[in-house]
Amino acid sequence: MIKVENLHKTFGKLDVLKGISTTIDDGAVVAIIGPSGSGKSTFLRCLNKLENPTKGKIWIDDDEITNPKTNIMKVRQKIGMVFQHFHLFPHMTVLGNLTYSPMKVKGLSKEEAEKKAKELLDKVGLLAKADEYPNRLSGGQKQRVAIARALAMEPDAMLFDEPTSALDPEMVKEVLDVMKTLAHTGMTMAIVTHEMGFAKEVADRVLFLDDGVLVEDAPPQEFFSNPKSERAKAFLDKIL
Ligand code: ADP
Ligand code: MG
Repeated sequence: MIKVENLHKTFGKLDVLKGISTTIDDGAVVAIIGPSGSGKSTFLRCLNKLENPTKGKIWIDDDEITNPKTNIMKVRQKIGMVFQHFHLFPHMTVLGNLTYSPMKVKGLSKEEAEKKAKELLDKVGLLAKADEYPNRLSGGQKQRVAIARALAMEPDAMLFDEPTSALDPEMVKEVLDVMKTLAHTGMTMAIVTHEMGFAKEVADRVLFLDDGVLVEDAPPQEFFSNPKSERAKAFLDKIL
């Protein structure tokens, strides 16, 4: 459902993505790993045009989002995004965070939006926090709200940029568990992560990015037990 062809991104003179091609099938879970600064976030952000690709093409289903004529706002509705630092609306309750866009963008009534929001909060184990404000939640709770908020838009795919990197260690699992459950529902997911255990267990494929190049694209069993490139070997040696 996501197809990337020869994607380049430069910031001024800095070549950040140097011709990336890959596809993410409907229902696939892809873990994107690689050293800091290798272009993982930029790659992810190009997929919903939070960054404007310099060259190359990206399709989301049948929409070529790199075509300036494509209505990107419409395509973005189909792609949920979860960030390292949650980005919740601080002045809204948890319920308000989940109902805002469905009402504003999708035109749901308050009743419809709240019903859906409560179902999702129940799924991520936070129904009891519906009326709290974000600053009264733990990091793990905030991130579960952020995931539920993205799901409230009923996306076809979800992008995660280091969703557990800002969390205290004891909160990592509760977020990964929510993501694992989501993966099992058949959601298409692209996840930038340093959680190698999670990548091994949940991902269908690992994309290893180094210095703006997609160096390896392989099933996790293969990637972790038998990395082909020296760069991947060196990276895994450092972290495992
Ligand atoms: P990663 O997520 O793998 O750590 P990023 O995609 O965030 O890497 O960054 C890749 C490179 O692009 C880094 O050198 C970073 O400094 C640079 N970069 C990212 N965003 C911008 C930007 N908006 N302007 C200039 N340089 C950027
Ligand atoms: Mg990053």
